[in-house]
Amino acid sequence: MLFDSLTEKMGETVRKLRGVDKITEKNVAGAMKQVKRALLDADVNLRVVNGLIKQIKERAIGAEVVPGVDPGQMLIKIMHEELTEIMGKDQAPLAKRSDGQPTVVLLAGLQGAGKTTAAAKLALYCLKDKRSVMLIAGDVYRPAAIDQLKTLGDMINVDVFSMGTDADPRDIIRKGIEKGKENKIDTLIVDTAGRQVIDAKLMKELKDVKDISKPDETLLVVDAMTGQEAATLTRSFNEEVGITGAILTKLDGDTRGGAALSVQQVSGAPIKFIGVGEKVEKLEPFIPERMASRILG
Ligand code: GDP
Repeated sequence: MLFDSLTEKMGETVRKLRGVDKITEKNVAGAMKQVKRALLDADVNLRVVNGLIKQIKERAIGAEVVPGVDPGQMLIKIMHEELTEIMGKDQAPLAKRSDGQPTVVLLAGLQGAGKTTAAAKLALYCLKDKRSVMLIAGDVYRPAAIDQLKTLGDMINVDVFSMGTDADPRDIIRKGIEKGKENKIDTLIVDTAGRQVIDAKLMKELKDVKDISKPDETLLVVDAMTGQEAATLTRSFNEEVGITGAILTKLDGDTRGGAALSVQQVSGAPIKFIGVGEKVEKLEPFIPERMASRILG
């Protein structure tokens, strides 16, 4: 089914290869051009695209076509496998400590990416995973972020630890974690200050918060609609603070999701979840194979 729809979309590619008994540099050139265009249209970073094309070519060229197997189909299968592979192949789970200490999940990202929403979504996900959860409101910069988190927390019946907007985020997080430990909460989700652009002061704060909270996960929240920029953003956050994964939001829009490939490629960190709507239940585990189909589609 999956390959059927891809094959349909890449019909020309597939037709042109019909009847060849070997995939060669020459007969695959047109197809590769089409693939390149598809990936660029899907907003995949150019460097990532070039790397992928090289890899796909290496695997495809010279490959003997098995009698009865359509060579175009074979190429599409290779492409799909390569894309899936570089996105991590298997679904990456959320950390879960087993030593009785709370699992601490730090969320970072630019303002508007969907960080506060993702914090609540993740809290609900944890509840469904039978974990007790507490949210820690550490975004003291965006007006209304704390109220927003409290409203969301009320909706899903999860406590939100807050000290208002006048407190230092470092204190909020220190005290929030202490409280989480006292109450034997399984998972603590920390909403950190969003930023409009990456600036040194806020990065320093994020590093401090990380030192204090010693998180089991530092997840970068990335807006899928930002396309190519997602690569630059991820690289900076990863170099500055180090991330263990990402949440790609707003995939319910009409973006093809090329950002997914870039995030994984530049940081080496897997995307763990995707946001597919504004509502608190609209969070799904990231499945590389599904995303590969979307990007190629
Ligand atoms: P923050 O500044 O990073 O904390 O961003 P917010 O959590 O306030 O989200 C910014 C806007 O994006 C809000 O209007 C959210 O409702 C919306 N949003 C967040 N995640 C998603 C998503 O997965 N899909 C859609 N369509 N909207 C989202």
